[in-house]
Amino acid sequence: MPTDRYDVIIIGSGAGGGTLAYHLAPTGKRILLLERGEHLPRERENWDSRTVVVEGKYKAAETWYDKDGRAFHPGTHYCVGGNTKFYGAVLFRLRERDFGPLHHRDGISPPWPISYADLAPYYTRAERLYSVHGERGSDPTEPPCDDPYPHPPVSHEPRIQALFDDLKRAGQRPFPLPVGIRLDESAPHRSACIRCSTCDGFPCLIQAKADAHVTCVAPALEHPNVTLLTGAYVDRLETSPSGREITGVVVRRNGVEETHRADIVVVSCGAINSAALLLRSASDRHPGGLANRSGVVGRHYMCHLNSALIAVSRRPNPTRFQKTLGLNDFYFGADDWDFPLGHIQMLGKTDAAMFSAESHGLLPAGAAERFASHALDFWLTSEDLPDPDNRVEVGRDGRITLRYTPNNVEAHERLTTKLKQLLRHIGCERTLIPREAYFGKRIPIAGTGHQNGTIRFGHDPETSALDVHCKAHDLDNLYVVDASFFPSSAAVNPTLTIIANAIRVGDHLAARLGAQGGAA
Ligand SMILES: Cc1cc2nc3c(=O)[nH]c(=O)nc-3n(C[C@H](O)[C@H](O)[C@H](O)COP(=O)(O)OP(=O)(O)OC[C@H]3O[C@@H](n4cnc5c(N)ncnc54)[C@H](O)[C@@H]3O)c2cc1C
Ligand code: SF4
Repeated sequence: MPTDRYDVIIIGSGAGGGTLAYHLAPTGKRILLLERGEHLPRERENWDSRTVVVEGKYKAAETWYDKDGRAFHPGTHYCVGGNTKFYGAVLFRLRERDFGPLHHRDGISPPWPISYADLAPYYTRAERLYSVHGERGSDPTEPPCDDPYPHPPVSHEPRIQALFDDLKRAGQRPFPLPVGIRLDESAPHRSACIRCSTCDGFPCLIQAKADAHVTCVAPALEHPNVTLLTGAYVDRLETSPSGREITGVVVRRNGVEETHRADIVVVSCGAINSAALLLRSASDRHPGGLANRSGVVGRHYMCHLNSALIAVSRRPNPTRFQKTLGLNDFYFGADDWDFPLGHIQMLGKTDAAMFSAESHGLLPAGAAERFASHALDFWLTSEDLPDPDNRVEVGRDGRITLRYTPNNVEAHERLTTKLKQLLRHIGCERTLIPREAYFGKRIPIAGTGHQNGTIRFGHDPETSALDVHCKAHDLDNLYVVDASFFPSSAAVNPTLTIIANAIRVGDHLAARLGAQGGAA
């Protein structure tokens, strides 16, 4: 593009920003997509667990600090497509009740300013765009939907089918996980996805995962009106003297500072970095940070209570693609507990290299292989509640502090106990593994994968930063479309909701720009 002035600047090319760029591309409006990372290199190491998981080659080289000033390296990725390049592609709708107030032992999960019915048509479009496979009617908590999933459920491999049958016999209602991969099991010879064992937590070397890069950014760039700048770190946003308009997006690229301008600016850097960007952009007009008259920017950080739990089964588990089974029987409570507990799903398969690294040399030779070949790997998620003191802060030197004290912990512990009890019932034991090292690991603060909530939307400008269209209450041309807008975190994976909302906001922006409807 010869011009430095755009109709829309989108900052961040992950689930929110990438989807919005795709959606707006056919409108013909001039769009600039700014991404601090580069295209992820396509190389054999993409599928090497030592490189990706143990050495963390593709993780952001960043140091953040916790509430006690301890340094940690966040499990986040700066590249075209953002964290979706590495995600497990489990793409859930929130439950209908997640949009209302939900009572937990530790407090109330607040209602959203929109209902499930408002978002439902966008979920359907999001599922089509991201090639979601699933089976309607099998998940006992799923929200109402008349449309079938665009693709049939991904089949269970034999060991997971046996687990599914065992759980059924134990009175549970397991179901096929909704996943966004471009797999065609009816015609494997022409399927893009080859159903490998390195999907969850890995980039897809053959670009068959429905990530934001492959699904949205690459097709958007086929439109001549869309420009992508990589290595473009957005340092701050400048406003007009009235403070009502963003007039400049200040970027550091190749060591040089440059300013880009647009009628509309959309922030989508991920919930932590988006909050940090607004806080860094404080000015005389916005002394507490941009769009922060309410004081909520950076607050109410949520990331779920997550655990990886590994059970060693008597039967070998040679499964390659394990992420096919989910369990929501405890989502809203249990026979001995009136409050929500959360969600259980299979995790990508842990291999011997990962076991070995996790044990810090404790495992005898050969044992890692044996554990890996018998392990069943689970991921447990419970809702954490929005606490204003759980927050992102930016120091004068730009240093990011993530203050987070987990809440609703009892729900998560009870969920973990429920799964352990179930596993004992169905012939999985843990005697071969030192329990403290492997059986049940709470994901620490560095596990920021499900980050959300730091720039919440709502009707009231006193208690929220964004209106229902995700426009800043305090500014006329600033929007946010990543997971920052969530008022509550629910207990299913967040990304389909981010995508659906980006399409919803995209419709609003297309209308505002006087353009014909978008692509998604
Ligand atoms: C290992 C792993 C597995 C996961 N599995 C699942 C799953 O199965 N299902 C699910 O729903 N979710 C999953 N997630 C979470 C999912 O990846 C996120 O919810 C999703 O990517 C968030 O989308 P986003 O648009 O908010 O941010 P991101 O996808 O993180 O995108 C933000 C983008 O902004 C860029 N950026 C940041 N700061 C700046 C700046 N200052 N200037 C310019 N660019 C900037 C970043 O480089 C990045 O590309 C997983 C995450 C991880 C890490
Ligand atoms: S399972 Fe399919 S989509 Fe996932 S990484 Fe392997 S080939 Fe790619």
